[in-house]
Amino acid sequence: MASVLVVEDDQFVRSALIRHLTEASHTVRSVGTALEALREVAHHRFDVVILDLGLPDLDGAEALKMLRGITDVPVIIATARDDEAEIVRLLNDGADDYLTKPFSVEHLSARMAAVLRRARSTGEAPPSRDIRVGGLAIDPLRRQAALDGTALDLTRREFDLLAFLAGRPGVVVSRKELLAEVWQQSYGDDQTIDVHLSWLRRKLGETAARPRYLHTLRGVGVKLEPPREPLP
Ligand code: CA
Repeated sequence: MASVLVVEDDQFVRSALIRHLTEASHTVRSVGTALEALREVAHHRFDVVILDLGLPDLDGAEALKMLRGITDVPVIIATARDDEAEIVRLLNDGADDYLTKPFSVEHLSARMAAVLRRARSTGEAPPSRDIRVGGLAIDPLRRQAALDGTALDLTRREFDLLAFLAGRPGVVVSRKELLAEVWQQSYGDDQTIDVHLSWLRRKLGETAARPRYLHTLRGVGVKLEPPREPLP
């Protein structure tokens, strides 16, 4: 059961959504404009927002940006536009998932369940104990990482990526999983991940051709494990 905000100006779609979500025992509030939606999220806590892109007062992208300015709540975009470029842009701008209208209740439920599962798993307190893999030491609480005793200067994303991989040493993680867990997106391009991996790799003082900790398995994913050579 979740607390859902439905932002939809079409009365017919709106009542259908409310009925279905209520039947699925979710708590629902609904508004018909972006500005009302902003007021709602400022005053109430929701587990998920279903945001129609065609609202009378604000462009969908604008509405999403303003929502993201005040809350981290998962947002599922509902759009009649089947415009892939636009959808990718919105996902990069902080939407968590999208549905193309007309969509079925089953489809909506599945997307909601996935988004909620993801939000809950990342909402857990970070592990308080240090992660150690070979000469790597990661302190999740202080968000600090060191390699062979030397502090690493990592960006927020690089740290998240390193901590996620180091938390499951030797396990191959797919790009899709990294996208969902580190980027919290269900859709995106692999290039983003590859770029961050290459930056992280550089900071660890290794290359893809001569990996020590980060091993890329073509077409499968990436894993982090202690280097095979003896540590100094
Ligand atoms: Ca609309």
